[in-house]
Amino acid sequence: MPTVRFQSGEMVMGRWPGSNLYYEVKVLRFSPKSQLYTVIYKDGTELELKDQDIKSATGFRTRSRSRSRSRSPARRRSRSRSPARITRRSSSRTAAVAAAAAITESTPNSRRDAKLKDVLENPTKPVENNSNNKHENKEENDTANKVTEKPEAKVEAEPEMSQGRYNLRRRKDDGDAKAVEVKQLQLEEEEAKPTTVPAATSTTPLDFGGRIGAYFWLLFLPAWVLFLLLQVTLVDPSLANFPPPLPPLETLFDGQALGIVLLWTLFQALLYILPVGKLSEGMPLRTGERLKYRTNGFFAIVVSAVAVAAAVYQGVDLTYIHSNFLQLAVASFLGSFLLSVYLYVRSRYVPPDQLALGGNSGNVVYDFFKGHELNPRIKNFDLKFFCEMRPGLIGWCVINFAMALAEMQEQHLEAPSHAMILVNLFQLLYVVDGLWNEEAILTTMDLMHDGFGFMLAFGDLVWVPFTYSLQAYYLVTHPNPLGLPALIAIVAIKLLGFYIFRMSNSQKNAFRRNPSDPKLAHLKTIPTATGKSLLVSGWWGVVRHPNYLGDLIMALAWSLPCGFSHLLPWYYMIYFIILLVHRNSRDMSECRRKYGSAWDEYCQTVRYRIIPGIY
Ligand code: NDP
Repeated sequence: MPTVRFQSGEMVMGRWPGSNLYYEVKVLRFSPKSQLYTVIYKDGTELELKDQDIKSATGFRTRSRSRSRSRSPARRRSRSRSPARITRRSSSRTAAVAAAAAITESTPNSRRDAKLKDVLENPTKPVENNSNNKHENKEENDTANKVTEKPEAKVEAEPEMSQGRYNLRRRKDDGDAKAVEVKQLQLEEEEAKPTTVPAATSTTPLDFGGRIGAYFWLLFLPAWVLFLLLQVTLVDPSLANFPPPLPPLETLFDGQALGIVLLWTLFQALLYILPVGKLSEGMPLRTGERLKYRTNGFFAIVVSAVAVAAAVYQGVDLTYIHSNFLQLAVASFLGSFLLSVYLYVRSRYVPPDQLALGGNSGNVVYDFFKGHELNPRIKNFDLKFFCEMRPGLIGWCVINFAMALAEMQEQHLEAPSHAMILVNLFQLLYVVDGLWNEEAILTTMDLMHDGFGFMLAFGDLVWVPFTYSLQAYYLVTHPNPLGLPALIAIVAIKLLGFYIFRMSNSQKNAFRRNPSDPKLAHLKTIPTATGKSLLVSGWWGVVRHPNYLGDLIMALAWSLPCGFSHLLPWYYMIYFIILLVHRNSRDMSECRRKYGSAWDEYCQTVRYRIIPGIY
């Protein structure tokens, strides 16, 4: 039985993850299971540290340097770099930013330095912070000004607090403060030990209703898709017709449908592995490594479109998709389920540093649902990236096209209806845009934080293609003639949503990829202790998720062509509001854990989450 060296409440020196800098921290608790200490820094950030990353305060050697008196990221910011105290350009640099900068400048060829820099900039450190709810409440109530801080930290931070902990400044004003820090950081680097990679622990808060929730979602999601698909085939898909008649069980499975789904997936896999298109780098992982992704999605959809057109030209009847929709969905469900089993099994054998921080509850059902391995790969074939962007997404467009053909057949039309054309074009634009900007997905939550399990596999392979196409399916048997003013209004709504969505996503993506991009120099930012900054002006200064706002406006434009006769074509809009509100709160918790009080500052500055002035 290993001894517990430090007791709760003890003040010790804790290593800042990924660096060789030690700060004064307070031990909160020790977990015998994970063998990790939970410690709190003076800026309120809680982290879990291994025993070897903690030193006793008394035995710790104090370095004699004039500018390094502080022992926490908060103190470094507040004492020596407070914008309130000093007006020099270097005033607001965080310890981590400075460390990263110093390392860049000192020994650029050193692998260890590069690794340290990467880890410093890496957002996904195993931060465990139970103050999320407190934070949410505090923010909603609009009472407190700052997160709870230890009294001593408060004293240190006081000079800044009068103006807010972080200064809001134009990014170009970051200027060239690096030199000031270089020597200090070099000194620390000379004494460096190998960087410790924080491990994922089983203490990450559970999402989606926890263990019970996972059971529920596992049963509910497939049942809900079945319900929707049965409902949309009804002449009157209203709630009055609930429950829809169930087809005989044996008709749900069809070998041919399974074959088509398999062939389609293999075809997309083939396009994905072709050495065509750019190799893009993902965000730094906890190990400091950056994975490479073949971002040739646009190429894939163009080739797929040509293949589908050639097949139709050769006489292939694409309306098969309409008449066998349920069977195709069941086949895709089986595929996603088997894939999830495979993912769960392999997640149990990969090294801890390749696991996501969630999906490690120890409960089989929860972990199977949530997914645990962050980037499961077979050689260079990235399963999560592939499933997120290819078979389901491109398949959705093919389904929509098939529905347009089915509508013409069903309603004896020479061309698809205006409503059908709008739905097809709008959703095609959404997918093509996603594939054109495929690299942007590398900075999204799914890719950066979530493990790959049933939730994403089912979402990517079943939910997206088979429920997002419901509007087109609905229009096959529920015509909705549109006049010119309605057409113009709907197109205008779509374009507005698309503009907000694209601009905001591109702005964040560009900023995350290159924070010093001169095109973004006019934007204000808030530095955080991780070394990354948060945009606090531009799109991300309007609301905290401008990209969700644009997406929601587009969702409205997708439903409007179907009219108001039934709720079913509005299902996507309703579902999407729920999804994005929940996603927003998940992201808020995640960012609160990552960025601590800097995130609070951001939330105080940008008060609304998605809709300006309302929510
Ligand atoms: P975001 O792309 O908004 O990513 C959230 C992350 O952005 C945060 O975790 C944080 O990560 C970073 N971030 C947050 N605030 C700031 C800021 N002020 N400055 C800089 N970085 C910030 O979220 P999603 O992955 O959920 O969404 C991506 C897109 O996909 C959205 O447009 C969404 O609408 C769309 N989407 C569509 C779905 C659909 O089914 N149609 C489903 C889900 C999403 P970090 O700081 O670590 O970089």
